[in-house]
Amino acid sequence: MTTWQQRYESALMNTFGTPKLLLTRGEGAHVWDADGTEYVDLLGGIAVNALGHAHPAVLEAVTHQLGTLGHVSNFFASEPQLALAERLLTLLGPEVGGRVFFSNSGAEANEAALKLTRRTGRTHLVATEGSFHGRTMGALALTSKAAYREPFEPLPGYVTFVPYGDAAALTAAVTDDTAAVVLEPIQGEAGVRVPPPGYLSAARRACDEHGALLWLDEVQTGIGRTGAWFAHQLPAGEGVTPDVVTLAKGLGGGIPIGATIGLGTAGALLEPGNHGTTFGGNPVACAAALAVLDTIEKDQLLDRATALGKTLRDGLGADPRVTEARGEGLMVGLELAVDAPGVVTAAMAGGYILNATGPSTIRLVPPLVLTDEDARGFVEAWSGILDAVEVDA
Ligand SMILES: *Cc1c(COP(=O)(O)O)cnc(C)c1O
Repeated sequence: MTTWQQRYESALMNTFGTPKLLLTRGEGAHVWDADGTEYVDLLGGIAVNALGHAHPAVLEAVTHQLGTLGHVSNFFASEPQLALAERLLTLLGPEVGGRVFFSNSGAEANEAALKLTRRTGRTHLVATEGSFHGRTMGALALTSKAAYREPFEPLPGYVTFVPYGDAAALTAAVTDDTAAVVLEPIQGEAGVRVPPPGYLSAARRACDEHGALLWLDEVQTGIGRTGAWFAHQLPAGEGVTPDVVTLAKGLGGGIPIGATIGLGTAGALLEPGNHGTTFGGNPVACAAALAVLDTIEKDQLLDRATALGKTLRDGLGADPRVTEARGEGLMVGLELAVDAPGVVTAAMAGGYILNATGPSTIRLVPPLVLTDEDARGFVEAWSGILDAVEVDA
């Protein structure tokens, strides 16, 4: 064991296990470790580094803002915060209108949304099996995985879990007591699970029938990841308008930021005194997010995400050991007939950073600035990586 791993184990809480690499530098979709070894980063800090590492637009925005006005608290407004809120509402549909609450992470964005749903006067929530909404107590209450939940029960209550993608089960679970239905448009941590067509519109109908809010957790799927600004804007979303959207991961391009967006009347549910944050909406984080949105637009990265996703799904899925290649844009899930954690290890030895979400599932959520060359290079290396696992097993 190397010295940095010993230092990690004695100084960091053991919540993640000991990392395999100590990374020291990044540029675009590439990172370098402490030994100077280069990797193509197909995990992107878990769908966070939308513009890759050290993007000049984020660097310039953050540097400029920090040198001008870094933090002021929510006793004061700042121009980046105003501009970002307006920009997000425009991207979600200028005709709908709404209001934004900024925070610092996905879990926090979901906590604010959960509190917002309580302001309907109802407490029942419908969530889905396989869901992931974060690790704080409220977000965890909506997360289905028993291993995450059970050590911390009792969690805030009255949540019904229904099988993901089953419109009939969801519809049956919504009642006049339901405050909200919370869904990921594509489940991320569950291994990039795409629901059948019509699922979101069925959820919208069930909510409308009972006066419940439709809350879409786009923490992972949002900000261009799937080839649309938001996954519910893909054709499969059939034009559905949610009441609440939560964002984080890709929004800040690596600077922590979360956003809870109440569309239409849902934007007025949280009232003075109902919620707060010291850091949320910090000018530096908002400036970073504006730089991310500008760059996605200017460099047409939504189209890039769509095209690169197809290259990866078609190319990687051609190997017979891939039983399914799914997802949208640069949110790619691969179901394998070989051991997925073994594939992650073999890929790392070959200079690629991937992630296994389960024993047979690989998830790729690379930067949207991934080059064609890197995507094709990985497709060419893929069968060799899978061979290495079979030999080792
Ligand atoms: C990652 C994730 C979260 C939690 O975000 P954190 O920033 O880790 O708190 C919530 N919802 C979804 C869908 C996610 O993918």
